[in-house]
Amino acid sequence: MALPRLFDTAVARFADRPAIDFFGRKFTYAELGRQVDRAALGLQKLGVRHGTRVGLCLPNTPYSVIAYFAILKLGGIVVNFNPLYVEREIAQQIDDSGTTIMVTLDVKKIYPKIASLLGGTCLERIVVCSMRAALPFGKGILFRLFKSAELAKPREDSRHVRFSALRAARGTMEPADIDPAADIAVLQYTGGTTGIPKGAMLTHANLSANVAQIGRHVPILTAGRERALLILPLFHVFGMTAGMNFCISIGAEIILLPSFDVHQALAIITQKHPTLLPGVPSLFAALTARVGDGKYDLSSINYCISGGAPLPLEVRTRFEALSGCKLVEGYGLTEASPVVSANPLDAAYKNTSVGFPLPGTVIEIRSLDDPRRVLAAGEKGEICLRGPQIMAGYWKNAKETEAVFIDGALRTGDVGYIDEGGYLYLVDRIKDLILCGGFNVYPRVIEEALHQHPAVAEAAVIGIPDAYRGQAPKAFVTLRPGAQTTPSALLHFLRDYLSRIEMPKAIEIRASLPKTAIGKVSRKELAAEESHH
Ligand code: AMP
Repeated sequence: MALPRLFDTAVARFADRPAIDFFGRKFTYAELGRQVDRAALGLQKLGVRHGTRVGLCLPNTPYSVIAYFAILKLGGIVVNFNPLYVEREIAQQIDDSGTTIMVTLDVKKIYPKIASLLGGTCLERIVVCSMRAALPFGKGILFRLFKSAELAKPREDSRHVRFSALRAARGTMEPADIDPAADIAVLQYTGGTTGIPKGAMLTHANLSANVAQIGRHVPILTAGRERALLILPLFHVFGMTAGMNFCISIGAEIILLPSFDVHQALAIITQKHPTLLPGVPSLFAALTARVGDGKYDLSSINYCISGGAPLPLEVRTRFEALSGCKLVEGYGLTEASPVVSANPLDAAYKNTSVGFPLPGTVIEIRSLDDPRRVLAAGEKGEICLRGPQIMAGYWKNAKETEAVFIDGALRTGDVGYIDEGGYLYLVDRIKDLILCGGFNVYPRVIEEALHQHPAVAEAAVIGIPDAYRGQAPKAFVTLRPGAQTTPSALLHFLRDYLSRIEMPKAIEIRASLPKTAIGKVSRKELAAEESHH
């Protein structure tokens, strides 16, 4: 179905139930529905219509949910932006997607980056949301969260529109006719298997099917009674589908957190009693590490799903023991909206497996040497997928689209196998990506940034295990003859080129780097050396 229909159904069914709690500022489903319709009318006046790409560059706030469904009601396409990205990355994504309107927040860490792209890119307008207006009055939360010095002063000109002004528009909103199977709802950027950023075209049918599939997999939840804590960012596909859209479909109350601070998260769990917590392994690891002294109570949590990176067994067992919940591991990727498989909630859970396919999903393991050949149970090969949640292709990129499908199945770039019982196991990633706390970090981006430094001759980056983020980048460099620098000077230099998650955990300066037969620096060999330490 079209996502607005999923949303409107929830608004009608759960009207008086709480929908969002943002630091104590609450919306019922009925109120959320009204806010979406008003924002949609305002966006319609700005010219948003069928096919218009509208960016969301927001940390988790009620605006994220309101703007998302408002855009979709008009038949617009949501383009999710990671607010931690540096200007260069945001600019590329604006131009690739053809984003003409960006919805963002008036905080200094985000707004100035977007404002500087008016003019130099195809961005025409900025809709600025007020952080202050999103918070409950008089609680001093604003100042604990964002000191007022951290708020940006948006410009006042014809290219800027206040979100509050959108909501004041008069007239009638005309919802678009949406063809769920054909119409793109979201462009979700990912490096995929090649590392070159591209927009996965997720249709309304893809995204709503994934919600329905998740619902079939976890039938124990009670509609209208669950409360979910969403620390996972909604601009990431996992937070969008398994967090926001799924929660709305079951009328859950969504407690939104815009950033992750362990103690704040633990305090909120203790105080607000969420029953659901979707997350990435590093989130569960962090919560487990700090819960210690009996000050916090996690016992309200009944069910958690972990995905995006391998969930260490000790993290799972410790978190389950502390909270009494079921923490199940699933597997997914951007191109699959994202959930592909998950462990069951009952005794049939298999450690180290990422579970079995969601209903309607077919997993094929194909030979790494000859991808036309589908392998038998137990054999390792590339995980390929079919199902209603598989993307329509990459936005304006026929070449990458063609390369990612084989006989109509999506190639994931992940190596895995299926056991006799139909459970999926991930072995390795074909891709060289580094996964930091659920985000993909591309070694090449870091290498290219290092190459900007005048003393650097060669650079190679690999992922090394990191107790907190799952993986962290480590860089190896050689210097130009006669040049001198130190690892800490290089790290300092990189801050202008990389976002925080891309920053290497360590830099090693070497006399030489291992090379492949044709003379390319061998990341593989570096990784092997590193694992022997
Ligand atoms: P993304 O498209 O950015 O969400 O990244 C998807 C990739 O994350 C997949 O192709 C896998 O390589 C990896 N991934 C997802 N879930 C898991 C998991 N449970 N264990 C290990 N890797 C995972």
